Amino acid sequence: MRLATFMYEGTERAGIFNEGKYFLLADAIGREMSVLDFIREGASEFEFTRPVEPESLCAPIPRPMRNIICIGKNYADHAKEVAETIQSAQGDDLIPTTPIFFTKAVCPAPGDGATISLHSHFTQQVDYEAELAVIIGKPTYRATRQDAENAIFGYTILNDITARDVQKRHSQWFFGKSLDGFCPMGPHIVTRDEIGLPPAGFPPALKISCRVNGDLRQSSCTSNLIFDIPEIIATLSQGITLLPGDIIATGTPAGIGGAMNPPQYLKPGDKVECEIEKIGILTNYFAV
Ligand code: MG
Repeated sequence: MRLATFMYEGTERAGIFNEGKYFLLADAIGREMSVLDFIREGASEFEFTRPVEPESLCAPIPRPMRNIICIGKNYADHAKEVAETIQSAQGDDLIPTTPIFFTKAVCPAPGDGATISLHSHFTQQVDYEAELAVIIGKPTYRATRQDAENAIFGYTILNDITARDVQKRHSQWFFGKSLDGFCPMGPHIVTRDEIGLPPAGFPPALKISCRVNGDLRQSSCTSNLIFDIPEIIATLSQGITLLPGDIIATGTPAGIGGAMNPPQYLKPGDKVECEIEKIGILTNYFAV
């Protein structure tokens, strides 16, 4: 199943994308609810009778209850490029031996097709990071690796947009990664049952890539994660109860603009496409 949030008749509505068409969740299940409500409560019967034309897509969960939980340097090739160009590191700091967690504020998250401000008055180094995001489906405390799969509701694509100069200036990554609009997600949340079938399996091995104005910048597979999804959920849930609707961004592979020579930061007019196999393409445009 694919869940979406979109503008329809001027109002933000939850919906289902089924066989190439959008349906209002309220029509399909007979009562009004948000995607977040649906993750918490579910539904057993669906009816797809009246497709609608969304005016624009929003992020599937435009206003998450809490910050996005992010993992830093979770692909070895990206950890190396960061160490060589952005933040000198050696030993355990070069390739992490425990997951690096931080959070990213979102309110609201833009959706597929949205234009995002580069905040050019404040930063000149805005960069992209294509990531697989995990959506938690049920309260999860002290999960084992084996429990992790059942904790997941589904997956989406997240672009962990980052102002590198702000990130460096303020030491903590929070500020440079939390500027307004810097967390587009979508186009849909695809449920675990749809993603986890072979050959993707669990944890899912999915091709992940990012293109800027059509040029391929990032290309990898989620099987290259240093700390895989079961490890991330098992580790976090030892001390934090993960809640339905929590979103975990699993990290980005090599190919960020800041590690290119010379660095290639985003500029007004750029189009960035983050693509993950079996989920789709998240496309965003950038303006001053
Ligand atoms: Mg990231």
